[in-house]
Formats: sequence, C-alpha cells, structure tokens
Amino acid sequence: MILGGIEAGGTKFVCLLADGAGTILAEARFPTRGPGETMGEVLGFFRSAAAGGIRPDAVGIGAFGPLELRPGDRYGHIASTPKPGWSGADLVGPVRAALGVPVEIDTDVNAAALAEARWGAAQGLGSFVYMTVGTGIGAGALVDGRPIHGLVHPEMGHVSVPRQAGDDFPGICPFHGACFEGMASGPAMSARWGVPAQDLVGEARDRAVDLEARYLAEGLRNIVYALAPERIVIGGGVAEMPGLLPAVQARLVERLGGYPGLDEHAAEGFLTAAGLGQMAGPRGTLALAEIAVRGAAA
Ligand code: ZN
Repeated sequence: MILGGIEAGGTKFVCLLADGAGTILAEARFPTRGPGETMGEVLGFFRSAAAGGIRPDAVGIGAFGPLELRPGDRYGHIASTPKPGWSGADLVGPVRAALGVPVEIDTDVNAAALAEARWGAAQGLGSFVYMTVGTGIGAGALVDGRPIHGLVHPEMGHVSVPRQAGDDFPGICPFHGACFEGMASGPAMSARWGVPAQDLVGEARDRAVDLEARYLAEGLRNIVYALAPERIVIGGGVAEMPGLLPAVQARLVERLGGYPGLDEHAAEGFLTAAGLGQMAGPRGTLALAEIAVRGAAA
C-alpha cells in the first residue's frame, strides 16, 4: 500500500509518499503561494511520482484553517480566512479529481495529534491534546483515538487568557487582539520583545520565558478543565525554547490551584515535547490517508 500526504501550511506545503510501514518514498516542500499555483505544484509532485511508478492508494491532507469538515459540497474547503486568496479554496476536490483516490482532510493540528498517537509521544493514550506554539497557536484533541469535530473543528488557540500584571501588550490576533494566540504565539513574542523568540539571550530570554510560561499555563488551564486530557503534547518552534515546558507545567499546576487535585497534572511527562518534532504534521497526513483507506473499505 502507498500512502500520500499533503501538509498545507500557511507558509509552506509538504508533500509525501510513503509505504504502509511509514517509510518515506518521496517528499517535496515548497512555499505557499495562491491556491491555484500551490495546488498545481501539489499535483505536479504526484504526477512526477506516478511517472516513476509511485501512485498513492489514498491521500491525507492536514491543513491550516478554518476548514469546512462537515459532509457536503463544501467539505475540504478553506472557510473565511484573512490569508489573501484562500477563502473558499478547495483542497480536496482537485486532488480527488486528479488522482481518483479517497482523500481525508483534517486540521494540521488534528493530523499532528494522530501522528503523535500512532508514532510519537501519545502512544497508547485514549484522550490527549496536541498543541503547537509557533506562527500561531492551535490544538487538536483526540478522544477515544478520534479528533473532535463539531460545527467546525475546535479553535483552542482563540480562548481567553487573563492579562498578566504589568503587561500592556495589546495582542496581535486580528479577531480578538489579546486572545491566547494573540498574546503567546511566535509573532506575538516577536512583536512584544522586538526580536524573534529564538534570538533572545540572557536576562531578556529569562523574562520572555517566564511571561510566555504564564500565558501558556492560562490557555492550557482552560483546555485541561474543558477536555480532561491524559497528556498534553507540545510542538512548534516556540515550544523548543530551553526551559519553557517545565516552567509552563509548574505554572499550570499552580493555576489549577489544587483542583481537582490529580497527581497526574504535576507528574513528569503530563506536558511533553512532541515526539516527532517538526515531522508530526507531515506524518499525520499519512495517518489521515490510512483513515481514508479504511473508510473506502468500509
Ligand atoms: Zn484570537
């Protein structure tokens, strides 16, 4: 069996072909441009692989959102987005039409959560949350092994976080200003401190890590109470700042205030780095392709 994957990111696309064991047979990366040009490059990748004899049995797509995931004519379309040209773009239709195989789509973070469950830091868990802290903040929750969907996919990056004492940063979310993502994403850190998080050193970095840990703990407190995850797996560039994750977990435990008093929240590994690192998203598209294969067989 050959699985195809497309990670549709806001700044770059990753296309993969892998065998049933997950061994990658072909891979391409290119910057995200307009939907027509970008989907053209995606189809070009699959066409040239097919010329070399590698054809997928199904394709998984993990995409930036908001995404329409309800069954119907709009399934797999990008919903209204500030990203120029992408509102209403159809990600599934062109792939289905060109390749004639089943296609499964979900958010980039739900895809990453599926990958962490299958190959990474959440193996064997029934319910957990994967959160990325990078160019945005997004999270996917798996309950009984399946991503949560409702009217739309969850948008945990836009929950409210209380402003920390002495912080007058207005926040950068175009919709809410000072929401979770508006206060604690990578671009929020760059705007707040004047340089990207990874360029901070010494005392400035210590200050930034401390404040970032406070905001991440506030956002995660909402998530812990709403979803009761067994573990929280964290990926994304910001999450790789030295010392950040232990500081977040310590703050989170403090902010839970002893309620409901579970030892698990304070235990090592409740908050853990993504086992697959930057490959969680791309790998997750292969997990979505497997779901497409099972769906087609059912
Ligand atoms: Zn927001």
